[in-house]
Amino acid sequence: MYTMGVDIGSASSKVVILKDLKLFDSEVVQIGTGTKGPGIAVEEIFKRTGLSYESMEKIVVTGYGRFTFEEADEQISEISCHAKGIHFLIPDARTIIDIGGQDAKAIALDSSGMVKQFFMNDKCAAGTGRFLDVMARVLNVELSEMQEIDKRSKSPVTVSSTCTVFAESEVISQLSKGAPIEDIIAGVHNSVAHKVCGLAFRAGLKDTIVMCGGVAKNSGVVRAISEELKRDIRVADMPQITGALGAAIFAYERAMKTKEA
Ligand code: ADP
Repeated sequence: MYTMGVDIGSASSKVVILKDLKLFDSEVVQIGTGTKGPGIAVEEIFKRTGLSYESMEKIVVTGYGRFTFEEADEQISEISCHAKGIHFLIPDARTIIDIGGQDAKAIALDSSGMVKQFFMNDKCAAGTGRFLDVMARVLNVELSEMQEIDKRSKSPVTVSSTCTVFAESEVISQLSKGAPIEDIIAGVHNSVAHKVCGLAFRAGLKDTIVMCGGVAKNSGVVRAISEELKRDIRVADMPQITGALGAAIFAYERAMKTKEA
């Protein structure tokens, strides 16, 4: 039995197909809601696997753009889907830090993977992937290079975490003062960490602490969060698809319930 989870975020579109609760295939397209991203991701995965919508027993969609995806049987929030996906991968997870393109969340789980409480920043770009996207552009580096450059830093500069626009000016000012790029990038990562850790502290910080979302692919941010929290952080495997994975697991559970009824 195949089930599908689709996660339409602000920055990317993710699809996961499960075969009997095992990961069968996944696809990430780096464009999100309001674009052709979800359609392209589904098309790619169908082309590769030879499957189709008709092959899917159930489809669940999540993410910011979930209300625009008509092929789904059900829409479920990202909080529930990330919790479901992370609990599946790492049953010991008790705190999730999810940083996506447009928001950051800290989610507290109980031992059965149920969401106890969550805290979210979606009002401000500071502490999100968007902040890092802006800084990468200003610094003229690829997002994927930032983690390696971060490792060379000996003395990170201080970058304000309160506002992306002010922080951008600060970074330009540091550049013009001749600060080393690695210290600016480490400062940018520390700034994201500072903002997000406020959410994590409120969520209670129980071990195991797991990071997911596209920003978890940047080990510089993981380093900065670990330092700020003074705790070890585990990064989920394929951290960008944990929401889509959770959605596909919900689809599997719904399909099983229908079969049993
Ligand atoms: P959403 O679910 O909101 O669409 P994602 O979880 O896909 O967001 O995260 C998107 C963010 O992930 C981007 O804004 C970017 O900062 C970061 N990101 C994506 N790919 C990489 C990468 N290879 N290296 C570092 N950061 C990345």
